[in-house]
Amino acid sequence: MYYKNNKLILPESINELHQTVLENPNSIFFAGGTYIMKNRKMFLDSSDVKIISLEKIKELFDVTRNIKHVEVGAMVTTNKLLEIGNLAFNDLLLSTLSNTATHIVRNQITIGGALATSNIRFSLPGTLSCMGASIELLDFSKNKMTTKLVPVEKMYKNGLILLEKGNLIKKIKIPLDTFDFERFYCIGNPVKEPESTVIFAFRSDINQTLINNIKLSVTFPKAGIFTSSIVSSELDGAEIPIIPKSAISISNKFISEIDKNIEGVTPLQKERAKRILQTILYQITPSKKYIEKNY
Ligand SMILES: Cc1cc2nc3c(=O)[nH]c(=O)nc-3n(C[C@H](O)[C@H](O)[C@H](O)COP(=O)(O)OP(=O)(O)OC[C@H]3O[C@@H](n4cnc5c(N)ncnc54)[C@H](O)[C@@H]3O)c2cc1C
Repeated sequence: MYYKNNKLILPESINELHQTVLENPNSIFFAGGTYIMKNRKMFLDSSDVKIISLEKIKELFDVTRNIKHVEVGAMVTTNKLLEIGNLAFNDLLLSTLSNTATHIVRNQITIGGALATSNIRFSLPGTLSCMGASIELLDFSKNKMTTKLVPVEKMYKNGLILLEKGNLIKKIKIPLDTFDFERFYCIGNPVKEPESTVIFAFRSDINQTLINNIKLSVTFPKAGIFTSSIVSSELDGAEIPIIPKSAISISNKFISEIDKNIEGVTPLQKERAKRILQTILYQITPSKKYIEKNY
């Protein structure tokens, strides 16, 4: 790793990390480094900001599983999660991970880093929010370390992460639920064109010819993550396939809801979000089992 002026500290356990943060309140965590290295002025200036690398802390690489959840340490990379995920995760998460950057960059991007970027939202938070995942946070700012579990959807506001200084993402608790219908779309490049990119995560269940249990998160990298309640309530219990007139009406309401609730979404992003939603709505069809039985 590139560093200078003794800026780099490498704690080897959570307790050591706690002590390091207390001694260096003006410090930043370094995970995979893919975001930090693009913003070099975050640490390559003459200030006294220390870089705390998380790479030697074994607890942050742990992955555990029970019947309902997988708990993934913050330093697990996106590629590693894809490997594990092929056995456990739903298509929504797998397709989000495989559509993130390239294989080489995914070897660097960590789950904690993908959630913790300060002023830009990438793909993973929207998908994990749609799936009902939670983040375990450790607060190192006081002598006594405390832990709390926060739903991913409560971690962000107006495009920013609500992560206090001295707080560490320790792990992410991901439910193992599967859904009858799941879609992930990323139109544009969130790194190169954040102002025109739209990232969409959608899931629902299908009960014969009705849909329910709908959740959708749309991410505008600079403006933030938006979870639509109008789309969910309009669609809940709706008959499928959805006719074009209803799809257009729902997508228009969706855009009005975005206008009322989130600032900084560009006209191109709104147009893209509307079209993605319509595309998804046309793709929801009765379950294969139901079609085979009835047609
Ligand atoms: C070439 C390239 C292509 C990319 N393509 C995509 C793409 O297609 N889709 C996409 O969604 N994203 C993409 N990204 C962005 C990528 O997702 C982010 O750079 C990445 O999420 C950051 O993760 P990291 O582990 O490298 O974090 P770092 O760069 O190490 O850290 C990022 C931030 O999180 C903080 N942090 C890290 N870990 C923790 C923790 N455990 N607790 C608290 N704070 C922490 C750091 O202090 C820093 O502020 C791309 C990036 C690059 C460089």
